[in-house]
Amino acid sequence: MRVLIISDIHANFDALQTVLKDGGDVDQTWCLGDLVGYGPQPNECVELIRSLENLICIKGNHDLAVTGGIDISLFNNEAKESMLWHQNNLSKENIKFLKDLPEKVEVNGVTLVHGSPRNPIWEYILEPYIARINYEYFKTDLCLVGHSHQPMISAWNAEEGVLEWGPPVPGSSITLHNRMIINPGSVGQPRDSDPRAAYAIYTTGLHRFEFRRIAYDVGAVQKKILKAELPLRHAQRLNGGW
Ligand code: ZN
Repeated sequence: MRVLIISDIHANFDALQTVLKDGGDVDQTWCLGDLVGYGPQPNECVELIRSLENLICIKGNHDLAVTGGIDISLFNNEAKESMLWHQNNLSKENIKFLKDLPEKVEVNGVTLVHGSPRNPIWEYILEPYIARINYEYFKTDLCLVGHSHQPMISAWNAEEGVLEWGPPVPGSSITLHNRMIINPGSVGQPRDSDPRAAYAIYTTGLHRFEFRRIAYDVGAVQKKILKAELPLRHAQRLNGGW
């Protein structure tokens, strides 16, 4: 089975369309949350995701916040401004879709969460020791996470007590080994200094995981952000991937 893995789309419709086209034919799509927040086209993104066949989608912190599940005052000023804009612009049907998303799913022997298996909505896995702790919180061999917007590979060899940790080379493939936690990176707002949209293709029978990057029209999205009068910073950061 060929699975498209996407995460952290953040209402960036141009990036999402580019990734879906580049990903080609797939048997399933697994989406790791944060469909909305920051970007200018939340309805278009949610509707396109909803239309995908054989979709498994979980909830991110922005999806939870926009549906009233989090006190918005916990966000910084710009994120708050963007969140209110999204709340006001999302259709009722799309809000309902986001609200009904699960926080944690096991599919085909893989655990899917947005943040971490220990804290599916909020925890960032940005350090090896955080990854190490989180191996205690899921039972499958593979766990896929998003949230940090940075592609990452971690593998835990329990017998030897060795943790592998680091970013993947864009375009490279790995064969799954030991137990692993993998982040495919962000479609709509990468934060690893590479502005190209990030996603992954998982070929289950071969246990192969391919890390992909694809350029999209960043300028077009920046114009839409400014036109919508969303915070300027959310447009600026797309250039440099921060
Ligand atoms: Zn996110």
